[in-house]
Formats: sequence, structure tokens, C-alpha cells
Amino acid sequence: MNVTQRLAITGAKLASRMSRLIGKQGQNLPGTIGLRLSPGILRDLSHQVSQATVMVCGTNGKTTVNNLLADLSEQNGYRVVANRTGANLTEGVAGSYILASRGGRIEADLAFLESDEAWARHTIKHLPVDLMIITNLFRDQLDRYGEIDTTMEYLLEAIERKPDLRLLVNGDDPLCVHLAQTSGRSFSTFGITEPVLAQTEETREATFCPVCDRPLDYQFYHYSQLGHYDCTCGFHRPAIDYAVTEVDLSDGLSFKLAGQAYTIAYRGFYNIYNFAAVIAAFDLLDLKRDRLPQQLQLFLPKAGRNEIFQVGPTRLILNLAKNPAGFNQNLHSLLADDTAEAVLLGINDEAQDGRDVSWLWDVDFERLKKTDVKQILTTGARGADMLLRLKYDGIEGRLVLELRAAIDQLLQAQPKVAYVLVNYTLLQPAHAYLKALAQRSRS
Ligand SMILES: [Zn+2]
Repeated sequence: MNVTQRLAITGAKLASRMSRLIGKQGQNLPGTIGLRLSPGILRDLSHQVSQATVMVCGTNGKTTVNNLLADLSEQNGYRVVANRTGANLTEGVAGSYILASRGGRIEADLAFLESDEAWARHTIKHLPVDLMIITNLFRDQLDRYGEIDTTMEYLLEAIERKPDLRLLVNGDDPLCVHLAQTSGRSFSTFGITEPVLAQTEETREATFCPVCDRPLDYQFYHYSQLGHYDCTCGFHRPAIDYAVTEVDLSDGLSFKLAGQAYTIAYRGFYNIYNFAAVIAAFDLLDLKRDRLPQQLQLFLPKAGRNEIFQVGPTRLILNLAKNPAGFNQNLHSLLADDTAEAVLLGINDEAQDGRDVSWLWDVDFERLKKTDVKQILTTGARGADMLLRLKYDGIEGRLVLELRAAIDQLLQAQPKVAYVLVNYTLLQPAHAYLKALAQRSRS
């Protein structure tokens, strides 16, 4: 480490401390400053990690997977560098290393880095990545990246930069598998190898064969384009290396993977994929994993992700729904819950949400008609678009523009169970308000 690099680290850490003083959090600023002062800083620090570096990409679940990997590795005695706050551009990754360094050195066994799909090809140039995990590839934030094909091109570019990189992908996702096959690398897969949810018709994304564009055949499917697919051209779901079976969703998540039973206090079927990816990565990296089942059992979901609030007689379930796949999965849970009586759908359009809300047209809201839901409200800056979208499917709803007023309205009829499904920038305010209401109703 030379003088310039030491200065870059000092400057970056100082900037981080100052930004925290003015109430800002995050790893972008130290990364930006560090890279500006010493462009080689990320390469230098990242190559000091002794055992393995993992990059996690994919539309949904990458923060969950990355943080689980980091937390569980630490619990098993490894020293870890990770961008846990979800700062997943090159600056955020650099910031994570800089803040973890002591005297210009990184003392870590493992690095876990979540990366934005479009930025992976830039960030990876600096890093000794051994394993790349791709959780899934859904349509998301179209206004930022264009079509899913572009995202796949970007990821291929990233993979090509690292000849020794291994791949772990979602084998139930035809897009992930096609990407892995196109890359020419050997790859491992995780997947759910039996039907779990009711096999209803649903808007599936990319149900066309990624090789020949004909519609894919499904033996069964889970949601969106995930399932057991094959095509007349020969493209098919490969053998699943890490196969999840015996799924039980009645109380949290229970399943078997490689003969081992797991019970986890998370809700949401889609989280099984996140856990399968984590368990598979531990195996591929040959990390200590004897206690994983017990450690996973003690894991609790993050605030606002399928969190339950009791307000008077009403049980409220709050969840994030930020793209068609996430929304359809939430509607699936709702359909399976015959106690649900009310739903609030909140849509904002700030930068983090994506300004373009045309993806709402890809969500299968029609299935709301098959539920016992009596009251449907919409809210948020694009609550009116949401309402219009429902009308198109012949569903009656009502717009209450302001979030807290909408929640109050939802509670007024005292439903037994109500769902609050919101996109990104509404999640935190909804969480704060529901928490306050729950506290007030207890006292
Ligand atoms: Zn085909």
C-alpha cells in the first residue's frame, strides 16, 4: 500500500464520518472519494481477502441473499466484508472495503458483494470474484435499463471478464439458465423440484423460449416464469443440483434440501429460493455449514417484509411489491389466505421506485376477484394509475391519496385481516405508521 492509497483511505473514512454527522448513511461517498483519489484502491483492498469473493446479482432477493451469506459466515467464525446496506454500484462496493480496512489492510476471509446487474461489468474489473450468484431475472425498473435482454448482455460481459468465475443460478428460471449456458461456463443450479402453489393461470414473464422464441411448456410452475419448463427446440430445465423438496408453507417456511430439513421463520414462498441459493453457496465454497439449519431457524425477516401488525381486531400484513413478479407472488399469498378482507395497494414513482409504472399492466390483478376481499384501496403518488389498472380488470376500488389516511380508512371497517402492499419508497413510512398504530392499540 503506497502513500496515495493510504491518503485515499483516510480521506474516504473522514468523509464517511462527516456524512454521518450530518445524518447521512451509506457507503457511496467514501467509495467515490477513495476511487477518485486512488483508482487502484478497490483492486488493492479486494485482493487481500484470503478465501473467496462472491458477487450476488438478480432482480429480486439479492440483498436478502447477500446479507444472509455475510451474517451466516460471520456466525460460523469467518471474517467478512460485505455491502450490507445495498449500495451496489462500484462506489458502494469500494466504500465497503474502505470502511472495513484497518491501516490500509483488509483482514477478511470472505467478501460478499451485491451488485446492480448493469454495473457488475464495471465493478468486477477490480475484484477477484470466485462465484457469481444470479437469483432470478425479472422485468424491473424498465426506465433505467431497457429490456431484460440488455441486462443479460451486461451480465454476460461481467462473466466474460473473469475466466475462472463459477456460476450458481436459479435453475427454475429459463432466463438464468439461458444466460449461464450462453456464457459457456459450467454452472450449478438451485430450484424447487415439485409443484407447491396452486397451478392457476397467471401473467408469466418471458414464457417464451429464450433460445427459439416459441412458448415454453411447463410441467408445473411456481410464479412468473419460474418452474419446470421445456421447449420443442430442446431447451429445458437442467438437472437441479440443489433441489428443494417437501415444501410446507403453513407455518413459516419448511423444506428439504439435499436430505436436510430446514424450518425458517420467514413468510413468502419466493424466499425459499433465497435460502436455497445461500445453502448452495455454502456448499460450493466449502464453508463450515454443520450448524446452518439451526442458525437459519433463528433468522428473522427484515422490517416491513411480510411483517404482521395487530391493530385492534385487525391483523395487518405489510409487504414490499415493487415489480410484476413480486406483486404476483403477493397476490398468490393473498389468494391462499381466505381470511383476507381488505387490501391497500400503494404505488409511488420516485427514482428508487422507477418513474415508469407501466409494469402495473403486467400484474395479474384479476385474481383479486377470486378472493373474499371486500375492500380495496389505492394510495401513493400513482394511486390513481393503480385504481385505473384495477378498473380495467373490472375491480372496484377507491383512491385515498395520502398513505396514513388510506391506512386509517382500511381499518375503519375492522377487517379481520388486511394486506398492505406497497412499492419501495412507501415501505418505510407504512412500516413506521403501522408500528405506531400497533403500539397505540396495545397500550
Ligand atoms: Zn425453444
